[in-house]
Amino acid sequence: MRLTPWGAVRTVTGSMHLVETGGVRLLLDCGLFQGRRAEFYEINSRFPFSPARIDAVVLSHAHLDHCGNLPTLVRQGFDGPIYCTPATGDVAAVVLRDSAKVQHQDVTFVNKIRRSRGEPPMAPLYTHEEAERAIHHLTSVRYGRAFSVGAARVTFLDAGHILGSAITVIEAEDRTLGFSGDLGRPGAPILRDAEIPPALDLLLMETTYGDRLHEAQAAGAQHLAAAVTETIGRGGKVLIPALAVGRTQDLTYTLRELGAAGRVPAVPTYVDSPMAIDVTEIYRVHEECFDEETRARLEQHDPFGFKGLHYVRAADESQQLNAKHDPFIVIATSGMCESGRILHHLRHHIGDPQSLLLIVSFQAVHTLGRRLADGVSPVNIFGEPHEVRLQVVVLDAFSAHADRDELLGWVHRVPRVGQVICVHGEERQSLAFAQHLTARAITARVPVRGEPIAV
Ligand SMILES: [Zn+2]
Repeated sequence: MRLTPWGAVRTVTGSMHLVETGGVRLLLDCGLFQGRRAEFYEINSRFPFSPARIDAVVLSHAHLDHCGNLPTLVRQGFDGPIYCTPATGDVAAVVLRDSAKVQHQDVTFVNKIRRSRGEPPMAPLYTHEEAERAIHHLTSVRYGRAFSVGAARVTFLDAGHILGSAITVIEAEDRTLGFSGDLGRPGAPILRDAEIPPALDLLLMETTYGDRLHEAQAAGAQHLAAAVTETIGRGGKVLIPALAVGRTQDLTYTLRELGAAGRVPAVPTYVDSPMAIDVTEIYRVHEECFDEETRARLEQHDPFGFKGLHYVRAADESQQLNAKHDPFIVIATSGMCESGRILHHLRHHIGDPQSLLLIVSFQAVHTLGRRLADGVSPVNIFGEPHEVRLQVVVLDAFSAHADRDELLGWVHRVPRVGQVICVHGEERQSLAFAQHLTARAITARVPVRGEPIAV
């Protein structure tokens, strides 16, 4: 068996790895590389192998950086099944349709500028129809049920990261390869904890937080409650940028719990994202992914709803929030403040020292979210500079990614690991994590992109 890491190598975006065994070619993930525009088109539109010669894709989960380039793969000749868990299939369909929409908007904007310069128009990376074609290839398989791709036997285990997220185990030629996908924090709300794979000859592993520790989750909830209570008390608004998939549901779940316990004041809370609304509906029909605590709660109440929680679909209703004078909480996309409705809320409140921007998730370099988290001021929003006067608080307890010690703890519970290949982390994080493993007598290293590795 041979593994070639092609994406999310020494970076966190564009997850994609090729596995070749017994004449079969499997692609683990086909994520969108997210970066500056020129790089975005260059990297996403050119595969370093022939898509037509891939027999199957095995998808770890439905985040855009893991599934978002599937429509390009299909357009360029891939015609096999895209295996994923049932919940991942449902969420991926929403994510891919939204991605096609975002790309249409982006290319419309770019082409306006190009036309004014007399340049020929650009085509989007993929269209809505091409996204639908990729969605048509999604083939769902439940956790724990092995399936075959040629002579390879593949099994999904729960990764506890977002709804439907999976660890992939591939057995072929008497060797076993494990791919962690993204791993969630143990004890995170809603979902079960990551399962432990069997003995592995090679473990391909995410290292997003390979050298960082998160705050404990109970302390995180306490800090969230304190920050929200203080802001509401002084009459401010609480703005929370969040991914539509995963973080939004964790937050509504946690705010519900805090509200029920009287730990946050009762103020209107808005989930301002049509996509988050669609994804929350998918969460509701996939109880099979919930942990026992959430299942037990289902019998008493709706874990994603509470009095005062409003889901905002219409754009005009979203804009009307700006006219409100009384305190409220708004959760809006995108998670790194790069696009979406959070930008309108930010522009409106960035000069208001009473309001709060609560950053609860990973912020990649070169994003507005990262600049705000780093205390940069002024920042550009819609091309205009704004002095940052609102309070900015960063809480990492709500991360959907396990931290360094949680990752190490998980590896230690695998019965045997031949070697660990560290991917899906900024270079510094991946290198540090490989060192931590080496110090614990586990063979580990960070590959270079395109390097063939014998399993
Ligand atoms: Zn993810």
